Amino acid sequence: TGGLTLVATPIGNLGDLSPRAVAALRGADVVLCEDTRVTAPLLAREGVSATLVALHDHNEIGTTPRLVERMLVGQRLALVSDAGMPLMSDPGYRLVRAVIAAGLPVTAVPGPNAALTALVLSGLPPNPHLFHGFLPPRDGPRLAELARLRAAERAGLTATLIFYEAPHRVAESLAAMAEVFGPREAAVARELTKKFEEVRRGTLPDLAAHYATHAARGEMVVVVAPAPEEPATAEEDLDTALRTAMARLSLRD
Ligand code: SAM
Repeated sequence: TGGLTLVATPIGNLGDLSPRAVAALRGADVVLCEDTRVTAPLLAREGVSATLVALHDHNEIGTTPRLVERMLVGQRLALVSDAGMPLMSDPGYRLVRAVIAAGLPVTAVPGPNAALTALVLSGLPPNPHLFHGFLPPRDGPRLAELARLRAAERAGLTATLIFYEAPHRVAESLAAMAEVFGPREAAVARELTKKFEEVRRGTLPDLAAHYATHAARGEMVVVVAPAPEEPATAEEDLDTALRTAMARLSLRD
């Protein structure tokens, strides 16, 4: 029967392509990918001869009905992105919804993912975490997005934050984060799984200062520590004091 398999591919180190990923690609009638120039060599290396079809943000809505039709007549489709887990800051979410709505099977071959790899190497609390993906590229919208996250923290969110960032924007992004989140611990994970893998840990202002003077190269992930515990407000203090006193009273009864 037809259906969809989401297949994770390496984020830099070709050794991370799993045997099950290769088997899923071999068994697919069609491999959907972001960029055929990236995926064709991967398939060629593994001797996979499936038809390649491009699926990207610009054609996902238009192509999805035709892809679902292929699955309805029994074709097996695999979805890969240029790197890592499909759908994670990559195309495929709308296709997955359409496949679920059509009652067709969808499964995944999990594997490399830059966000989780950076998180576990950051030395920051692994859970709860919030994977944000990319921030808006322009200053104003980026600051607004960070302010929204800070507002969520003020309302009680305590999660390690994970952002994807482009090397030419990392210095400004870190500066904006330092402005909004203050001098918190953070980590910048670069070139994960590759020869020059590096995790730089420090406070947000320190990291911002570093990247302001050292041009960064390669792909990177920024991980930010959760909001520190806010000192309780006077009102909360009163509330707690009152509850403690009541509890003591009821104990005496
Ligand atoms: N789907 C991918 C995944 O599962 O990680 C992410 C795709 S997203 C379009 C690309 C971004 O992921 C890069 O800009 C960078 O932030 C991050 N990234 C991908 N590979 C990386 C690597 N080897 N080291 C550090 N960050 C990486």
